[in-house]
Formats: sequence, C-alpha cells, structure tokens
Amino acid sequence: RAKRAGRDCVRVFEPSMKAEHDERARLLTALRSAVPAQEFRLHYQPQVDRTGRVVGAEALLRWESPELGMIEPSRFIPLAEESGLIVPIGRAVIRDACAVLAWWSQDPATKHLTLSVNVSPHQFQHPSFVEDVRLALQTAGVSPSLLKLEVTENVVISDMPSVQAHMQALRELGVRLSLDDFGIGYSSLSYLKHLPLSQLKIDQVFVRNMLSDPREAAVVRTVIALARDLALELVAEGVETPEQREMLSDLGCGLYQGYLFGRPVPLESLCVVQ
Ligand code: C2E
Ligand code: MG
Ligand code: MG
Ligand code: MG
Repeated sequence: RAKRAGRDCVRVFEPSMKAEHDERARLLTALRSAVPAQEFRLHYQPQVDRTGRVVGAEALLRWESPELGMIEPSRFIPLAEESGLIVPIGRAVIRDACAVLAWWSQDPATKHLTLSVNVSPHQFQHPSFVEDVRLALQTAGVSPSLLKLEVTENVVISDMPSVQAHMQALRELGVRLSLDDFGIGYSSLSYLKHLPLSQLKIDQVFVRNMLSDPREAAVVRTVIALARDLALELVAEGVETPEQREMLSDLGCGLYQGYLFGRPVPLESLCVVQ
C-alpha cells in the first residue's frame, strides 16, 4: 500500500508534466522581458447598438513575441495574473486606452465612442489601481464616463475591502463598471443590485447555443430581463450570425459584439463610422 501511494506521488514528475512545467517557465521568462520590450499591442472590437451603429469598442490585448510568435490572451493572461506582471501590463493597457479615447474625442464623428478595457482580479485589487486609472484619464484629458472597466464575477463578489472600496471610488470618479462573462459564474444574483455596475455582458456560450438549445435561450431571456429591471446596459458577446442577432433583438438586447459586426483589429483598421 505504502509503495503504491509512493508510486502515485512520483507521478508529479511524469515527463508530460515536466514538459508542461518547462513550457510555463519558458513563457514566464519571455513574459518578463515582454513588458520592458513593449511587445504588447491592443486590438479593438466594435460594439454596436440595435440599429447597427458603432457605439464603442473593447480593447483586447495581443502579445507578439519575437521568439514565440503571437500568443493568445488565454495563454498569457493567467500567467501574468499569477506572477503579478499583470499590474505593469494592465497599467500600460489603461494608458493606451485613454490615449485612444483622447484621439477619438478630437473628432465629432468619434467623440461619443466608449472604450472597454478588461481588468483582472490581481490588477483590480492592487493598492494603486484607482489612482493609476485617475492619472491615466487626467493625463489624456478624457471624460471618465467614456471608459468602461470589464471585470468578472469573482472580482465583484470578492469580500476584500480593497475591491469594494475600489468599485466605489471608480464609480465616484465617473468610470463605468461592466460585469464580463456574466452567467457562467455560480454565485447568487442577489448581490447584483448592491454593486455599482452599469453594464452586464452575457457570456458568449449562451449566445452560441441559444438557437439550438431552449435552455440556453431561457438564460439569455432571463439575463436580459434582469438587466432591464436593474437598469443596467446589456451587451451580448460572441454574436456571429444574423439569426443570433435577430433573436437577441427580439428578446430586447441593447448592445452587440461579435464577429458578425467585426473581429478585433488594430486601431487603424477599426471601422467606427458608417
Ligand atoms: P473577454 O473579455 O470575454 O473577450 C471576448 C473574447 O471573445 C475575445 O477573445 C474576443 O476576441 C472573442 N470574441 C469576440 N467576438 C467573438 C465571436 O463572435 N466569436 C468568438 N468565438 N469569439 C469572439 P480574446 O481576445 O482571445 O481574449 C480572451 C480573454 O482574455 C478576454 O475575454 C479577457 O478575459 C482576456 N483579456 C484580453 N485582453 C485583456 C487585457 O488587456 N487585460 C486582461 N486582464 N485580460 C484581457
Ligand atoms: Mg471583456
Ligand atoms: Mg467576455
Ligand atoms: Mg471571456
């Protein structure tokens, strides 16, 4: 028995796991130098209203590593989060986003556009977060109401005092808070009415399966009603087909984002005026 257990314990050194560990270590080393080397770049995906008019965009981070090539956020964001590197990376993202808002604000055709930025838990709870945001807005000279910070459920339900304080402080600053990937969490909905949110983004998994699975459609219908009752904006993510758009529209969805309207692209390729 003891021998078996011992053998089980040894499993952590299996070759496949070693390879995975090495890969992580390699990625982390590259990520460390990517910050000073400025290998990150933002892409922008349009968000449209019911009439198809572009009302804003979401900034999505891309890492172009000279050695490793283009690396997906799903591969490096968790690593950046665990290592704390998300703090300097995220600070640069917010600075760039504010610069884009400043640029848009100079033209009557684009000055109404909002920009949404994803913020991870570690970044949100960092002591200097609110001050970083305030400073970035002030330096760029843009209205805080044009900036939307997207956070996930695990951030907003955190009982850490700093998280609750930061949400309030950002709200007072005039920045909008959006709850991203809504519906895939497992927390109770009653917390929603106590939070200083202005937007819900229903997760793309519900949009994807809505037409084929009545249960997913029921979730979408419920979330849209919930948003309406709480006077929150509702964004549907991952809208890929006209059929999805039509069903969402019938259900009363206000804002749309997905490949149907545009993929994430570099700023110079973003089409914001029809
Ligand atoms: P998210 O914030 O939920 O972003 C939506 C993701 O869905 C993006 O993936 C986007 O490219 C993708 N997407 C948009 N429309 C469609 C569609 O119609 N169909 C499909 N299949 N996918 C669509 P991306 O760019 O790979 O980003 C993945 C996640 O990485 C984001 O999810 C966000 O959580 C995180 N992320 C991205 N940029 C940042 C950042 O600057 N900071 C932080 N902390 N996280 C970021
Ligand atoms: Mg997002
Ligand atoms: Mg999302
Ligand atoms: Mg997501």
